[in-house]
Amino acid sequence: TASSPELPTTPAKNVENVVIIGSGPAGYTAAIYAARANLKPVVFEGYQVGGVPGGQLMTTTEVENFPGFPDGISGPDLMERMRLQAERWGAELFQEDVENINLKSSPFTVQSSERKVKCHSVIFATGATAKRLRLPREDEFWSRGISACAICDGASPLFKGQVLAVVGGGDTATEEALYLTKYARHVHLLVRRDQLKASKAMQDRVYNNPNITVHYNTETLDIISNTKGQMSGVLVLKVDTGEESVLEAKGLFYGIGHSPNSQLLEGQVVLDSSGYLLVEEGTAKTSVEGVFAAGDVQDHEWRQAVTAAGSGCIAALSVERYLVHND
Ligand code: FAD
Repeated sequence: TASSPELPTTPAKNVENVVIIGSGPAGYTAAIYAARANLKPVVFEGYQVGGVPGGQLMTTTEVENFPGFPDGISGPDLMERMRLQAERWGAELFQEDVENINLKSSPFTVQSSERKVKCHSVIFATGATAKRLRLPREDEFWSRGISACAICDGASPLFKGQVLAVVGGGDTATEEALYLTKYARHVHLLVRRDQLKASKAMQDRVYNNPNITVHYNTETLDIISNTKGQMSGVLVLKVDTGEESVLEAKGLFYGIGHSPNSQLLEGQVVLDSSGYLLVEEGTAKTSVEGVFAAGDVQDHEWRQAVTAAGSGCIAALSVERYLVHND
């Protein structure tokens, strides 16, 4: 860790109980539980997603599957409520990105551009980022035709009963395509290579589903819109023939994977081969005692707001136990 003498550092005696890094459902839920347990958590909210705290749900419109909101709630509203709840119970929130963590010796140090905090424990809840194709019109159609989550958006009126496309050839893409067939009229799977990378079992399920057409050697180039400005198709390139064409579709789902935001911990905590934090099964414990993980940064499978919140709860309760045992 680079030492920055000009940054305010917590005095030697003044070591925080827990620092929580991240402001998605995992981070705020951990903050609510830790604050209610009187641990006075310090939260680095970060601002990497769109320059605001709140995580991935800040980039979506309606969240229809978070319990407690029968009519749905907008992603930003849900996150603002979680933030207020954490604040109400006394969590100290800083809208700063953590730039350095030193877990080599205890107490740990966590540093942003504004401050350096010493702490007995850390909850790492920095989330993951859905990989994007960076299509020329991607920003224009994000959440208005383009999505990275079939479970979240498949049943929305925008996509229900429509012809849809999924891009990717691995397990994520095949799973998205299969899931979407519950709602869509037909699903096109756009695969850049000449074969699927997905497991044999997933391939069989795709081939056996009459509502999925697989397009090999097909690169996705851009979104096509109608005169009302709505998405109406996908511009694709056949890489084997060089031919461009428009495939009619009202939605495009990205199934090209996620990147966990775990770079800060590289070399300090055990990560899996894709960069996800490894936790002891059924717990929030990482390979370093006193360091806990919650949410998408440790979950390549479920990736839902409610599962992230649940793991944030587990992480905070684990911190509470850890501090009692190490008192
Ligand atoms: P995130 O929400 O990813 O939050 C991580 C936080 O960590 C961010 O605030 C980020 O700024 C912060 N951070 C990262 N690095 C640092 C750092 N160095 N220092 C400080 N902070 C940092 N799920 C559902 O259940 N229902 C839905 O309808 C739904 N819709 C979705 C729509 C979209 C478009 C997307 C992208 C996802 C959707 N999801 C949905 C999935 C859901 O958003 C995620 O599963 C959930 O947000 C994961 O929560 P998290 O707390 O682990 O991380």
